[in-house]
Amino acid sequence: MSNKTIGILGGGQLGRMLALAGYPLGLRFRFFDPATDACAGHVGELYTGQYDDAEALARFANGVDVITYEFENVPVDAARLLMQHAPVYPPPAALEKAQDRLIEKEFFTALGIPTPFFQAVDSVADLEEALAHTGFPAVLKTRRFGYDGKGQIVLRQGADIAPAWEQLGGVPLILEGFVDYQREVSIIAARTCTGAFAWYPLAENEHDQGILARSRPAQAGAALQSEAVAYARRVLEALDYVGVLGIEFFQENGYLLANEMAPRVHNSGHWTIEGAQTSQFENHLRAILGLSPGDTTLVEQVTLFNLIGSLPDLDAVLAVPGAHLHLYDKAPRPGRKIGHITLRTADRQRFVDGMDTLARLIVNQL
Ligand code: AMP
Repeated sequence: MSNKTIGILGGGQLGRMLALAGYPLGLRFRFFDPATDACAGHVGELYTGQYDDAEALARFANGVDVITYEFENVPVDAARLLMQHAPVYPPPAALEKAQDRLIEKEFFTALGIPTPFFQAVDSVADLEEALAHTGFPAVLKTRRFGYDGKGQIVLRQGADIAPAWEQLGGVPLILEGFVDYQREVSIIAARTCTGAFAWYPLAENEHDQGILARSRPAQAGAALQSEAVAYARRVLEALDYVGVLGIEFFQENGYLLANEMAPRVHNSGHWTIEGAQTSQFENHLRAILGLSPGDTTLVEQVTLFNLIGSLPDLDAVLAVPGAHLHLYDKAPRPGRKIGHITLRTADRQRFVDGMDTLARLIVNQL
């Protein structure tokens, strides 16, 4: 394993954290990103180029032992082309499913995984027809390139249709029934190239304007946890998947409805760095290298706070017992994730006090 070079498509914070997890294992890292200032470039070699530049991709792939990706909008053709040079994990078929909300929800449905009601929308007539099924409210979303709540509009009444169409129409869309969920949860699971399977406890996630703001291991009964594990196992096996994958769910009336999946390490698993025996990042690397998955059990009480758009008083954060600060070396911009803090402690009072202090210190700009 030592001396192997991992090639990562995408040079954002997820790539950066993969590298930081891999250095203790003696691994080397190379990134490919169109941006010359990609933040992973500070922790590994950065190759810049466009994803449709076959020569640039070949230069990047030359000498790497295995290729993976850290964001789900890597063009599938680029991932397939790279398979001529080195093994590419997760399989590009997983990208294909995750890049299009319609294909993704059809995939979940085919596997018997419940989702919110959904219907493809390519015209105002389609939209009206779909609304006849959902009623109001409903959520109109672009099928591709939506993230952090972007590319979607909640329709609350007939008068919302025309402006929503004005804003989103012209690209393939999907209408979803509005789920009056109790909470949002996610599962992170891993499958290795030898078929070994591992999963983390369900995470409970809080979003602010569609952007993940906080995540922590969920209080969840065994039935809910095993429902999520069974769904994750189905997805991983159907795709002959290798690596870590996250699935986000709405919990409604005690049941899970799959919202979307990410064929990569996931923001709701950043607390595994300090909060689990083996982090999601290390387990992704182990999986793509064909090594045994590491123990995924929790270490202590843990909560993740994302730092979005603006940094808090860092010295005050560092003074909080049990707080672990992660900065991504990215310029602050409203709505941009630029770091996170994980609070981890075995002491109940310290945990409660730390949560209060961090909530007061964090000054997110959305
Ligand atoms: P997404 O980009 O699909 O992850 O959606 C971002 C956020 O919008 C989610 O975290 C939910 O809070 C909300 N949302 C998305 N789809 C629905 C839905 N069908 N019903 C209710 N809320 C939704």
